[in-house]
Amino acid sequence: MGKITVAANSENHCFVFMEVIDTYRHKGLRRELVSVLKAKGITDENVLAAIERIPRHLFFGKDTVFHETYAYEDGAYDIGEGQTISRPHTVARQSELLEIKPGEKVLEIGTGSGYQALVLMLLKTKVYSIERHKILHERTSKFLPEMKEYLVQLIESEKAKPAEPAKRTWKNEPEYWNIKCFYGDGFEGLPMHAPFDKIIITAAIPELPRKLLSQLSVGGKIVLPFGTEKDCDMVRITKHGEGQYSEEVFGKFAFVPMLKGKVS
Ligand code: SAH
Repeated sequence: MGKITVAANSENHCFVFMEVIDTYRHKGLRRELVSVLKAKGITDENVLAAIERIPRHLFFGKDTVFHETYAYEDGAYDIGEGQTISRPHTVARQSELLEIKPGEKVLEIGTGSGYQALVLMLLKTKVYSIERHKILHERTSKFLPEMKEYLVQLIESEKAKPAEPAKRTWKNEPEYWNIKCFYGDGFEGLPMHAPFDKIIITAAIPELPRKLLSQLSVGGKIVLPFGTEKDCDMVRITKHGEGQYSEEVFGKFAFVPMLKGKVS
């Protein structure tokens, strides 16, 4: 659980600082979650390793304290603004369907809590993530550097190297350990940063995202929940050339809807 420090300034505004507290109990719960995901058919070892490392109990925003016990159940939960953090099985399935190779550029639509983006980062990708809710965008773009810092230390401690937290910053990490967060409408994509090797949409989309398909590189793949909130199919589209695509379908999932425009 996060250790919470509260301080107040002269105007009596309170600030809450949270350190990353990730106990053996949390790690044990994550190992159990990984077993559950394997039993549900997830086979990509890199995806499972990422899920085993990321402290999901810290991704629930201001209500984190109350979510600790069920953070490692396979459920989707409220993160504020009417949005949810996706179920671990959904995150794992979308991640493995992307067939990530190290160094790839990935566009995510729907940053939300940042959990999915961090799973992708641990697969050694350059993640560009768009969120339409300003509040979520601001919160997550501040939180992810802390998480990244924590994971860098964790991975280095696993390699039995001494960690030097004071010398590390968000910027001076290897290029492929990178997440950039954007506030905007995911339907527009990020033409300035295109093309992308992979695109993942984490909200139910009822139409084919033409602008996003045009921002996909040839040979690239887009994984998206196609349909409405309660009834969508996980679809993977591969781009073989300009205007040439193939499509595969991987079963039913539930998502919040992808909506047009931004919310300030
Ligand atoms: N990937 C997230 C899941 C968040 S749920 C996670 O790991 O936590 C889906 C997110 O998509 C929500 O935060 C929602 O606000 C966002 N979203 C919906 N429509 C969008 C759009 N047009 N552009 C960008 N984000 C969108």
